[in-house]
Amino acid sequence: MYDPMVDSSPGCGIEYPSSYWADISTTNETSKPEDDGQLDKDIDVEVAIIGAGYTGLSCALHLAREHNIKAHVFEANQTAWGCSGRNAGFILKSSGRKTYAAMQKQWGEEVMRGIYHEMCAGVETVNGLIGEGINCDQQPAGYIKVAHKPSMLKTLKAQAKLQQQMFGYDVQVLSRQELHQDYMADENAYGAIRYQDGFGLNPLKLAWGYQQLAQAAGVKVHTSTPVSFADTSIKNSRQLITPQGKVTAKKVVIATNGYTPKGLHPIVTNRSLPVLSQIIVTAPLSPAQLAACNFITSNVVMDTRALKYYYRKLPDNRILFGGRGAITGKNANDPAYAQRLMSVLKTSFPALENLTYDYAWSGWICMALDDLPHIYQGEKGSNEENLFYAMGYCGSGVSFSVQAGKRLAEKVAGKAVSNLPLYTQPLPKFPFAPLRRVGQWGYFHYGKIKDKYL
Ligand SMILES: Cc1cc2nc3c(=O)[nH]c(=O)nc-3n(C[C@H](O)[C@H](O)[C@H](O)COP(=O)(O)OP(=O)(O)OC[C@H]3O[C@@H](n4cnc5c(N)ncnc54)[C@H](O)[C@@H]3O)c2cc1C
Repeated sequence: MYDPMVDSSPGCGIEYPSSYWADISTTNETSKPEDDGQLDKDIDVEVAIIGAGYTGLSCALHLAREHNIKAHVFEANQTAWGCSGRNAGFILKSSGRKTYAAMQKQWGEEVMRGIYHEMCAGVETVNGLIGEGINCDQQPAGYIKVAHKPSMLKTLKAQAKLQQQMFGYDVQVLSRQELHQDYMADENAYGAIRYQDGFGLNPLKLAWGYQQLAQAAGVKVHTSTPVSFADTSIKNSRQLITPQGKVTAKKVVIATNGYTPKGLHPIVTNRSLPVLSQIIVTAPLSPAQLAACNFITSNVVMDTRALKYYYRKLPDNRILFGGRGAITGKNANDPAYAQRLMSVLKTSFPALENLTYDYAWSGWICMALDDLPHIYQGEKGSNEENLFYAMGYCGSGVSFSVQAGKRLAEKVAGKAVSNLPLYTQPLPKFPFAPLRRVGQWGYFHYGKIKDKYL
């Protein structure tokens, strides 16, 4: 499997992984939209966007609609071939991994509130775009965060209290008994908090919908078009190399997140850590199996472990279950990772002892050293002034990447963007960058011990 820490290109025209989403998304009502195919000639454009995931498509859509700039998006493989077409489809009012308490401590209350409002705006933007007619199988709202041990229920309650006090956010506290009775009888859960918003959807159909909206606004989407930067730089423009044509662009947006290939450009080098997240989708549960686990809810669920597990019941009564995967691309397809998820699922729901999985796949999430996404323009006055990027969602970008794309479009159009740390600072560089995976391996071991014993 493509490994961004090793490979200098994600490939060219590679098909979607054999995921549940790729399998079920073409129906009578939806199918992969036509795109503009591989770029086959030299072109001059005002804005070139690298990567056709949510970030790239949202940036292009907002540039066209709000700033009258018709960008060209260049995607190495297929639209949403990266994370956007293979995630779990949880829409949450959050991104990154930094807690609001930590933000308040570092930057004060005003900045923390500003970031919270941007996260909320992300969900509103997604809902607004879906409301334009994107058919993406939304499920009933509700996000349940389960305590994987009794002590974590205390922490969750404190989180709920802070969010209620600070933002007036409606958070429900559920005892183990209430959770088992009204939502699902997860044996690993010792209680939970439940947010009324947050919901599950089909992430690939969502991306296809964004592509259609962007194309309708005049955006060109070229697939099978991997991009690299030319060494030569002409004043006030950038040259990009693709297999069949050269692109000369006044401005370039990098929207490659966890799929950013090795050596793409110094502006993003050593500023993120791609980490594999693994998903399985089980066979459909029979009515008897559903009843045995009292699996009533189709809310999205995540736990409190350092090495988190997440799950949801899909519209066809299968369970999507996710957690960490391999460390390297070379080991990504080892079935041991899917089997491990299956056995954890069975400790949550022992009645599903004989359940099997039908789909298993993984994808690269993009970790940032400071646990926050960054939306950034190269320093004004430097030769990177015409370069832009948004990345570092740390595994939580389905909703916020759309807001990031919108803000990125404002930056590209030369408009002022609020001065929250998300929008003013570059992604911090990893110290000892070549050793990032050693650090990851250490963190996985620490996480295992913490989740079990601490
Ligand atoms: C298994 C998994 C589960 C997840 N679940 C959730 C979830 O439930 N909720 C949530 O909020 N977040 C989730 N995420 C994270 C979320 O999917 C991402 O934050 C989001 O999709 C990022 O979108 P993006 O457009 O920035 O990047 P991507 O969708 O990764 O798009 C980047 C694109 O850039 C292309 N590219 C790279 N290099 C080049 C190049 N040189 N030339 C041309 N194209 C290039 C790639 O092919 C890729 O298609 C999950 C991620 C994974 C992997």
